[in-house]
Amino acid sequence: MLRHFITSLVLAAATLVAQSAPQAQTPAPAEQQPPAQGPAFVLKQPGRGVYAAISGRAGGNTGFIIGDDAVLVVDTFISQPPARDLLAEIRKVTNLPIKYVVNTHYHLDHVAGNAIFTAVGATVIAHRNERAWVRTENLKFYQQNGATPTPEQRATVDALVEPNITYDHALEINLGGRPVRVVYLPGHTGGDSVVYIPDANVVFTGDLGWNQRIPNLIDATTSAWVETLDRIVAAHPNATFVPGHGDIATTADLKAFRDYLSDLRSAVQKAQAAGQSGDALTQAVLAQLKPKYGAWPGFERLGPLNIQQTAAELQGTKKVPQPAAE
Ligand SMILES: [Zn+2]
Repeated sequence: MLRHFITSLVLAAATLVAQSAPQAQTPAPAEQQPPAQGPAFVLKQPGRGVYAAISGRAGGNTGFIIGDDAVLVVDTFISQPPARDLLAEIRKVTNLPIKYVVNTHYHLDHVAGNAIFTAVGATVIAHRNERAWVRTENLKFYQQNGATPTPEQRATVDALVEPNITYDHALEINLGGRPVRVVYLPGHTGGDSVVYIPDANVVFTGDLGWNQRIPNLIDATTSAWVETLDRIVAAHPNATFVPGHGDIATTADLKAFRDYLSDLRSAVQKAQAAGQSGDALTQAVLAQLKPKYGAWPGFERLGPLNIQQTAAELQGTKKVPQPAAE
C-alpha cells in the first residue's frame, strides 16, 4: 500500500448512520455543526506512511502516521462513531500498535473520539493548556445565545479524555526511527500544536490552518495568529499541509488564509478609525471582504462573528481562555 502515493477512500454516509444509530450522541453545538450530507471523511495519503482524513461530517480533519514500530493519530473528530471508522481504516493498512494520539487543541470537534484510541492502548498528548481547557472551555459551545447546557451535554464534556502527557514548547516523538515533531504555536486558542513529519515534509496544522474556509475565531488572538502563519510558511516552504478544516493545502493556500486574517484585521481597524461600530461596522467590513472571500464556506454564518470578535480583540475587550497555572 505504500506504493500508492495518493489513496482515496470514501466512506458511505449510509454505513455511518447505521453504525451511529444505537449510540445516542449529543448533537454538536451550532458553531461546530458539520454539513448534514456527504461522507463523514475521505482518506488521503499526502506522504509515505502519512494519512489525512479530510472531514465532511466528522468535525475537524484528523490523520495518522505509521512509523517503524507504532502509529500516531492526530485528532479524533467530533464524536466517537467517525473515530471508530478511522480506527478501522488504520487497521486496514497496518497492525502496528496505536501508541499515541496528539490533540492539536481542545475544541470538541477535534477531541471527542479520543476514547476510541485510549481503549486500544493509546496515550494522549497535548499542549498543557489543552488539558486545562478540554473539560471546562468546551462547555461554552453549548452556552451560546444564552443557552444552558443540558445534563447530557455536560456529561459529554465531563467525559472528554484529557491528555496523559502535556508539554510546553516542543516535543519529539519517535516512532521507531521515524521522528514526529510537535510544536506549540499561538493564535487560534493559545493551546495549539502543529505536528510535523520531517521525512515526509508533511505538517498537520490543526486549526492554525484553514484551507479556503472561514475560521472559528471564538478563542483567537489574530495578531499572534498572522505571525504564527508567517513562521509556519517560512519554516516549511515546500511542505504539504493538512489543515484543521478544508482539503490538503499548499504553502499558497496557507498564505491565502494568512491574508484573510490580515485583511479582516485591517478592514475592522479602518472601520473603527472611521467611527463605526456594531452592525454598521459588521456590514461595512463584510462588503469589503466579500469579493475576495465570499465564496469560502462559512462566510455568511461565521463572517459576521469573525468581524465582531476581531473588533473586540482590537478594542482590548475580547475574552480568551487563560493559560494553565504553572
Ligand atoms: Zn476545528
